[in-house]
Amino acid sequence: MALLINDLCVNCDVCEPACPNRAISAGAVIYEIDPARCTECVGHFDEPQCIAVCPVECIDVDTSIPETRLQLLAKYDALMREEAPQ
Ligand code: SF4
Ligand code: SF4
Repeated sequence: MALLINDLCVNCDVCEPACPNRAISAGAVIYEIDPARCTECVGHFDEPQCIAVCPVECIDVDTSIPETRLQLLAKYDALMREEAPQ
């Protein structure tokens, strides 16, 4: 499951550079996570880095996007292929 930032976000920008997939950006009101790029940090780290650094604990699992660990790994592989020099 991708993660989702809720409206307790204080726009501190701590999470954006911590994301290894560049999935986080400033939205119109609060920071947002692109579900197409969020792997729950699978492939990079043992735990979601955004949750680890967020000072107000405003990042939840988005239960509307169910994904298995294998699906998250496949997303990670696809993102890495996208990043690889041609
Ligand atoms: S869980 Fe990891 S990949 Fe997903 S938004 Fe947070 S830091 Fe980025
Ligand atoms: S670290 Fe938390 S409070 Fe700060 S911008 Fe990210 S989601 Fe919002």
